[in-house]
Amino acid sequence: MNKSAQQPDTEQADTEQGNSLIELSGITRVYGKGDATVYALRGIDLRINDGEFVAVMGASGSGKSTCMNIMGCLDTSSSGSYFFKGVDVGKLSRNQRALLRRNYLGFVFQGYNLLHRTSALENVELPLMYRGISPAKRRLQAMQALEIVGLKGRESHSPGELSGGQQQRVAIARAIVSEPAVLLADEPTGNLDSEYSHEIMQLLTRFNREQKITIIMITHEQDMAEYADRIIKFADGAVESDIKNGVLNNTNNQITDIEREDINSKQQRSIS
Ligand code: ADP
Ligand code: MG
Repeated sequence: MNKSAQQPDTEQADTEQGNSLIELSGITRVYGKGDATVYALRGIDLRINDGEFVAVMGASGSGKSTCMNIMGCLDTSSSGSYFFKGVDVGKLSRNQRALLRRNYLGFVFQGYNLLHRTSALENVELPLMYRGISPAKRRLQAMQALEIVGLKGRESHSPGELSGGQQQRVAIARAIVSEPAVLLADEPTGNLDSEYSHEIMQLLTRFNREQKITIIMITHEQDMAEYADRIIKFADGAVESDIKNGVLNNTNNQITDIEREDINSKQQRSIS
């Protein structure tokens, strides 16, 4: 990654409303072609500031994961622009995007995505290994991360020896061990019962408040979304509503009823 990408120009991105971390403009994502074309995202305009805790909701298939994968540099858009900390992600090479992921982003998934025949400690050490951190140092940092998520004493357990809630804690420790600017979580409590879900949400809230990690979390559950201070709802590959601290967020273009009619009719036509 070049220097400007390593040290993004936050000054340029500063505004009265806070430090812009993520700016999506007119993002579309089209899968397949011909009869099989799917318009997963139809033009997303979204700005997320440093330190926000955002919940993303919406029906299954509305484009939430597609959008998160683009924000997480796991996928690229078909059109539109994405700036991360003032850096134009569309202009980065595949390797530069991988570096951006490694240096700034942490991921948590519904299915935990842990390595199975590997201890909790080694799972958490993995991102540090990719970063080239020495064995002694990464062991120490991984131990500390596991302690923070309440798993001290379980370091040598493999995922199979841990409950779902504990496995998700390992995944969270793995995501935060490299001190990311942003934590992207795709239905992190989707496989957990209510008690474990609330524990995970309390953990995420703590990281947001105390370590100022920006959190973007997809969830189906209203009571989980309420831990966030901003709730963005997706419908048909577009932002349907965006509410921050109970107030309509006007920094982004809202989808109007007329636009929705248009989208729906286009979708009907693309299906039929
Ligand atoms: P959500 O996370 O809101 O459930 P997704 O972002 O996963 O929705 O999917 C949005 C739309 O894009 C859906 O219609 C889905 O079937 C489609 N889609 C997602 N990934 C692919 C893919 N790799 N190939 C084709 N279509 C896809
Ligand atoms: Mg999804």
